[in-house]
Amino acid sequence: MEEKRAPHVLIFPFPAQGHIHQMLTLAELLCLSSIQVTFLNTHHNHHRLLQFTNIQSRFARFPGLFRLESISDGAPDDHPRPSGFLPDLTAMMHLDSIISPHLRNLILSTRHDSGGFTCIICDGIMTFAIDVAKELGIQSIAFRTISASCFFAYLSYPHLQDGEDLDEKALTVPGMEKEKFFFRRRDLPGFSRQFRESPLMSDSVLEFCIKETFNSARASALILNTTEDLESPFLSQIRTKFHKVYAIGPLHSLAKNLRSPKIPQSHNSSSSPNNGLWEEDRSCLAWLESQPPKSVVYVSFGSIAVLTKSQLLEFWHGLVNSGYRFLWVRRPGSISGGDEAYSDDDWNIPAERGCVVKWAPQEEVLGHRAVGAFVTHSGWNSTLESMAAAVPMICWPKAADQPVISRVVGELWRVGVDMKDVCDRSTVEETVRYVMGGGGGEMGRSTAEIAEVVRRSVSEGGSSYCDFQALVKELKSGCR
Ligand code: UDP
Repeated sequence: MEEKRAPHVLIFPFPAQGHIHQMLTLAELLCLSSIQVTFLNTHHNHHRLLQFTNIQSRFARFPGLFRLESISDGAPDDHPRPSGFLPDLTAMMHLDSIISPHLRNLILSTRHDSGGFTCIICDGIMTFAIDVAKELGIQSIAFRTISASCFFAYLSYPHLQDGEDLDEKALTVPGMEKEKFFFRRRDLPGFSRQFRESPLMSDSVLEFCIKETFNSARASALILNTTEDLESPFLSQIRTKFHKVYAIGPLHSLAKNLRSPKIPQSHNSSSSPNNGLWEEDRSCLAWLESQPPKSVVYVSFGSIAVLTKSQLLEFWHGLVNSGYRFLWVRRPGSISGGDEAYSDDDWNIPAERGCVVKWAPQEEVLGHRAVGAFVTHSGWNSTLESMAAAVPMICWPKAADQPVISRVVGELWRVGVDMKDVCDRSTVEETVRYVMGGGGGEMGRSTAEIAEVVRRSVSEGGSSYCDFQALVKELKSGCR
């Protein structure tokens, strides 16, 4: 009889911060469950992770269970990679031909050296990896890093009615009749402001995202970084097309929970691991320490979004005029025209009113008692982190899944205000005042309730906790 093998999972994220962040957390969770993991990046991101994070010491507590590998993204080492660490955004559509041969070689050489992988967990926008896995007789699971609401929106595109009016009702959600919730055309990825304005976005990028959503069904299961308790109606719709869906999020909260009994306090508690591709500036935590409770607005537009100088100045003036203190992440490369489009005079503000850093330890910032609101681009990671920390959001979505998420945050969960397509200084000022002032009372209650929903879902017996245990069981089944 053939001997069963120990599980060995290859995790392969799309080369961008938000994707690596989630899948690295999943890698840690699997190691905590005694599953061997090989984590695959492009060479470029591999070097950044080694340079800016404590990845090696963080995983050193899993001897023999964690290994890093890297692969080419097709561009020379010294290419600046302006859009999210890919040579450019359209490269996402051609990664198949660049990466598939290297992936095949890695799988075959691992099989030769150490018995091989028992499963590939691939990014849901790199479904070519599912085909490689099939060809080589390995199980594959797709991991999509967007919200269930956005996954549902992509699945719904073939059924959208034609129309021009951005404010008209474009998509309803079966099972949400009582909530009277719907998406307007402007809330859907292909109609959002960024999509219409950005030369990088095109019909082919949208078609690619939709196609990859359907292609994920070729894997044996789908993992989403969400929880049944938050996104049940969307997950129900997804399950009509995907027979096995694991909703195991928010992963960062689940990891906090599962990590705590097993590792020394110094690696855990308030300090979250940096999964980032930039060096964290932790001096902002000291600045926050000297601020009163709930007095600071945290501002960050994530790892990819680029703002024009005038958009940034509108936010700046709106915040200054609101009278509140703020902590602002000004990521290198986040201003169109280059960082030099700014002079320091544009950012002149007394230190007690504002603090500007290039990259913050975001989870810790959101968990700090001094933070009262979050001006965000509505990336899914940022949204989950804000909800887990009970911080209300001021949403200014840019692209991809963000306009969908901000709609759900503002209209369904009511834990923020969806500013969507506007960011003039008076709207920013008014919205900041409204949210920092408690959002009419209702927002304070909803943020506390949602944080409790998140806490329960990742606690023992909660829906995400149980789905994660089921995933582990599946990965171990058929193995020694
Ligand atoms: N982030 C961070 N420090 C910062 C800004 C962002 O650690 O100064 C992290 C944030 O915690 C989140 C991720 O970067 O986990 C951004 O992911 P998200 O999905 O919100 O947006 P994206 O970058 O994919 O647009």
